[in-house]
Amino acid sequence: MKPAPVTSALTSARTVSPRTPDTATDSLSGRSVASAISPRKIIHCDCDCFYASVEMRDDPSLRGRPLAVGGRPDSRGVIATCNYEARRFGIHSAMSSALAVRKCPDLLIVPPAMDKYRAASRQIMAIYREYTELIEPLSLDEAYLDVTDATHHQRSATSIAAEIRARVAATVGVTVSAGVAPNKFVAKIASDWNKPDGMFIVKPHQVDAFVAALPVSKLFGVGRVTAAKLEQLGVRTCADLRDWEAVELHRHFGVFGQRLLELSRGIDSRPVRPDRERKSVSVETTYPIDLRTLADCAAEIPTLAAQLDGRIARAGAAAQIRKLFVKIRFADFQRTTVECMAVTPTVPALLALLEKGWARRAQPARLLGVGVRLVDGAGDAQPDLFAQPIEDAPHATC
Ligand SMILES: [Mg+2]
Repeated sequence: MKPAPVTSALTSARTVSPRTPDTATDSLSGRSVASAISPRKIIHCDCDCFYASVEMRDDPSLRGRPLAVGGRPDSRGVIATCNYEARRFGIHSAMSSALAVRKCPDLLIVPPAMDKYRAASRQIMAIYREYTELIEPLSLDEAYLDVTDATHHQRSATSIAAEIRARVAATVGVTVSAGVAPNKFVAKIASDWNKPDGMFIVKPHQVDAFVAALPVSKLFGVGRVTAAKLEQLGVRTCADLRDWEAVELHRHFGVFGQRLLELSRGIDSRPVRPDRERKSVSVETTYPIDLRTLADCAAEIPTLAAQLDGRIARAGAAAQIRKLFVKIRFADFQRTTVECMAVTPTVPALLALLEKGWARRAQPARLLGVGVRLVDGAGDAQPDLFAQPIEDAPHATC
């Protein structure tokens, strides 16, 4: 591998320590000089249409036809995952199953089998752990791996990623796409580049050009509304963003302006956090035009609830829900959150929370969010001894 530049504006701050010195050692700090200045090696691993892949693995007759995993079209079901044949019809996760079937009448929707997906996920994570302890799972099928200190394959992150992909395919029977880069943000985008069953490497000296060409909508935290606002300002790509002064971006986007500038330069020093625990799952929408009345807000709740269902399914978190919440950001940017004990995010319960939150200010809303809080240690959940008995919870209105 080509030696990294000694200093680079794109080199993220090292955040992982302690480390084994691999070359010279700084006599004052005792830390490796090379490790203090060399870029990190992050792999973002993302299984391809994970739930659908597991189903096709277990029943090969499902291969080659449009397949989705999700809820029933005749209830309020949503698509959790679909295979690539289904994606050709415009079907995607979080879409209502009813709409998916309209787009593709031949679509076969199978109900989720979470135990099976969890078992496959455990096998996959065990393979990752043979290369590094620094693993941050984002969901059952997605994780960041920091392999900076991994000694396999002469320290080549590219070779490690290739071997991981081959081993998961051979042992678990599903394919993983991987992105390799010096930080999480670039690695995550890279894993999407050659999907499915692909890999994309962004070496430290390539980060600058790779990020410059990205549309701003690819940046972490840039949703539809922010992208539209940037577009209005004439900013389409990260290269466009780099021309802006921090103070100007701050004026338009508040503290997020600084983050935008960093991301547009490929800078992301967030560490891979192996101890990360998911505490909540939520979705929110900022509306291009404020929702003026409570009825306007209430009309949005079923859509948000359906998106939330999809996200909960993908996170495998359905069994860990202990509270619901609704968040409202009003036109004056004041924010309020209302929550209640519950184990299922039903539309009536969310509407009751909305009504309560709305009453606090009773003015137009620019953002609505709905979400669930999870029991501690979700993913490997223990019952929460301090929560209300669940019999009381499902339709609680606080
Ligand atoms: Mg995936």
